[in-house]
Amino acid sequence: MSGVWVVVEHRQGEVREITFEMFGKGNELARALGVQCHAVLLGDDIAPLAAKIKPLVPKILAVEDPGLSEYNALTYRAVLGELIRVHTPLMVMIGHTACGMEVAPRLCAGLKWPLATDCVDMQVVDGNIEVIRGMYSDKVNARVGFRGAPGCILTIRSGSFPCEPKADDDAEVTMLPSPPLSEAQERRFIELVAAPKGDVDITRADVLISVGRGLGGPENLPLVEAFAEALGATISCSRPVVDKKWLPKERQVGTSGKKVAPRVYIALGISGAFQHVTAMKQSGTVIAVNKDPRAPIFNVADYGVVGDMFDVVPALTKMLQEQDV
Ligand code: FAD
Repeated sequence: MSGVWVVVEHRQGEVREITFEMFGKGNELARALGVQCHAVLLGDDIAPLAAKIKPLVPKILAVEDPGLSEYNALTYRAVLGELIRVHTPLMVMIGHTACGMEVAPRLCAGLKWPLATDCVDMQVVDGNIEVIRGMYSDKVNARVGFRGAPGCILTIRSGSFPCEPKADDDAEVTMLPSPPLSEAQERRFIELVAAPKGDVDITRADVLISVGRGLGGPENLPLVEAFAEALGATISCSRPVVDKKWLPKERQVGTSGKKVAPRVYIALGISGAFQHVTAMKQSGTVIAVNKDPRAPIFNVADYGVVGDMFDVVPALTKMLQEQDV
């Protein structure tokens, strides 16, 4: 049964987008390796989830157990660890998400398998798997191989691959027994607490002005608010701005915030860490203002201004206000 495995991430009955992104690449790599891509699905009622992914991969390996009703790193580690030990896949792809980042290292430690985290690309070179992963806040791309290993476990950065998987036929589903989950009981799922909904939905904005740590402090927000008013834009931000409580969480763009794709995205004092960029790079036109000419945000910007936002923003606001008059 060795092949390329994609671990299905799901929450509240919905398959998460990262899974579809991994299917596309998983199918491609499996073809290059001469094997099949398998979706690995854990849950307590897998039929509705299996129905959603059946047309997308050739095979589904499913483990159904009441102990798998909700995501739990310990139960996932127990089940996946046993499956990998018995079936030895060539490669296991897991989303580089809060769940995947928790499970993958535990699995590798238990199996003594190599792990490459936060992979942005993978390819087969002379029959061997090579992956590309960002390092030093994405200033360097490292190429990683796994010499002599029976297989490898990868966590995949969301947004790295398009969601366009398609297998030829509906997947064949193989039900596998669950190992005893009693040892994984020291952590229990209690409830899912949804984030409170605010009065602004940044995902629907046409023009977003996003502020980062370069803002310096909440006392400087009025400057950006005046700019946003003059432009008819909505204000969003990077994570440090939320962590410092300068703006509420509902304004955060990023992997742990919201994914946005406005017609125009203006990034002020944002460095362009991948956790931010992944969630805004689908925007129509990206304009970045940053003092540092080497800030990674310029890699995704259509227009870049190397300068101090405290000079640039008032000048733009003034220009817009004068145009209005
Ligand atoms: P910095 O990286 O500190 O950059 C500030 C930038 O402002 C610098 O480039 C600097 O040159 C520039 N600057 C400073 N002063 C000025 C000025 N006066 N004028 C112009 N430019 C100026 N981040 C997110 O944004 N969203 C997420 O959802 C998110 N999720 C994460 C999840 C995890 C698990 C982890 C580990 C991190 C996450 N992060 C997220 C954090 C992310 O890694 C970065 O730390 C963060 O995006 C950096 O925010 P920033 O660009 O505002 O700040």
